[in-house]
Amino acid sequence: MDTLAPTTLFLILAAPFVGSFLCVLALRLPAGQDVVRGRSRCPSCHQALAVRDLVPVFSWLVARGRCRFCDARIDPIYPIMELAALGVVLWAMLVVDEGVLLVTVLLGWALLALAAMDVRSLFLSDALTLPLIPAGLAACLWLEPDAIWEHALASLAAAGILAGLARAYRHARGRDGLGYGDVKLFAAAGAWTGAMGLGTVLLWAVVVNVLLLVAERLAGQQVSAETRVPIGTGLAVGLWLTWLYGPLSIL
Ligand SMILES: [Zn+2]
Repeated sequence: MDTLAPTTLFLILAAPFVGSFLCVLALRLPAGQDVVRGRSRCPSCHQALAVRDLVPVFSWLVARGRCRFCDARIDPIYPIMELAALGVVLWAMLVVDEGVLLVTVLLGWALLALAAMDVRSLFLSDALTLPLIPAGLAACLWLEPDAIWEHALASLAAAGILAGLARAYRHARGRDGLGYGDVKLFAAAGAWTGAMGLGTVLLWAVVVNVLLLVAERLAGQQVSAETRVPIGTGLAVGLWLTWLYGPLSIL
């Protein structure tokens, strides 16, 4: 095996810690809480946590998923996000060239936080969706400068299409089914993948949401036409897969 490039090694080592921070973003941004200041505390007993409580995955395993002060169960979303952030790096390493690894991993980490946020809170924070639009256009300028206008128009068209669908849905059903967070995330998808990728992103989004509904059903929860689904999670997964593997040729 080739030796790992320094950037790759750094991404692998940083991933679990980034995952911890992404988890904080996913849990705190929907609640409007500060994500930078404020020490980490046990949400149950409010005891400030020490460094040894914050080692990714390891601390959770050693404490067997419980707070060492009050014995409250620690949300398994923490170790899951820490491992998922590492998974993003390893997955990207398998698919993309070293030259685009960093930008791919950064996209993947942002999408991971958004996916978790929408599953938990049915909410996508502007702080993550909006920067993804210029970031996607910058990536296009760098990798494929001739396509910049096409990607910019795809981003606008994506926003227009989803905003139109959101209005139509509200008109037909009398309630919101699509949020403006979804509109902004789809606009980001247009910026990253261009017009050719948008159909594939939507198709993956539908597949993911159907799988989530099936999983809810299997977990014994009631599923009906009123069940709200995290469309943003589907869009995040769809954008990730389309960025890595390109548009499906049937679309
Ligand atoms: Zn506690």
